[in-house]
Amino acid sequence: MHRFDLIAMLLSPVSWFVFAFGALFGSFFNVCIYRIPRGIFWKTSRSHCPGCGAAIPSWHNIPILSWLFLRGKAACCGTKISVQYPLVELGTAILWVIIYWSFPFVSLSDGNVVFNSADLLRFAHGIVFCSVLLICSVIDLEHQIIPDVLSLPMIALAPLVACFHPELDLKSSLIGIVLGGGIFYAVAWIYFLVRKEYGLGLGDVKLLAGIGGWLGYQAVLTTIFWASMLGSIVGISLILISRKKKDMKLKLPFGPFLSLAAIFLLLFGHQLADYLITF
Ligand SMILES: [Zn+2]
Repeated sequence: MHRFDLIAMLLSPVSWFVFAFGALFGSFFNVCIYRIPRGIFWKTSRSHCPGCGAAIPSWHNIPILSWLFLRGKAACCGTKISVQYPLVELGTAILWVIIYWSFPFVSLSDGNVVFNSADLLRFAHGIVFCSVLLICSVIDLEHQIIPDVLSLPMIALAPLVACFHPELDLKSSLIGIVLGGGIFYAVAWIYFLVRKEYGLGLGDVKLLAGIGGWLGYQAVLTTIFWASMLGSIVGISLILISRKKKDMKLKLPFGPFLSLAAIFLLLFGHQLADYLITF
């Protein structure tokens, strides 16, 4: 395993190509995030200003740059455009570049193009998996739901995807779905019996089943552990920050933490394991 060369990777034209594509897809993900929870995904309409309804010219839809250029305001009527839009675009672009750096399927060395087909499969698996989790997380943060139209196809496609992945296999994917879904379903059921209310949503159950399917059963417990740690740290911090407001009932969706843990595990799990062993 060669040392990771950050400067060379930053200068690589492939990195910037992946960044640009990530930003473009991030722009599409914004549409998904807005439309899927509202049930209007298939409604054909051009992008319209939410303030005045005027059609938005395509040169005002350039990812990240348009928002900066327009300073977060619609050109037609000055309606504020949420910073969420450029953040999702930038986040997707950066995420895709990190996935490419983890699985550099094509690289240039001394003028030669080096192509690695196993890394291409890992890269394709990574961008689909991480992008779906990113969309689910933003929707979960905003609406406290994880849409079935995202989680169920994710579960259904997992065994097929696992067959093409260089490391995964059908068996670990199927066990991952059952284990991921099963553990959370049991927790949700016990919580409901004890508290007579839903603590853990079924959306989280399906999301973890999907994660188990796409990463294999080996990843399920680690994902839950890291997500719980992360969720506790953020939750306790928020309680400490907002201590003065006593009536505030803290409602923190778990989906984003599960997603973050799963993405981190996919991209840095091996490096982390190697590091812990050599340490
Ligand atoms: Zn407008």
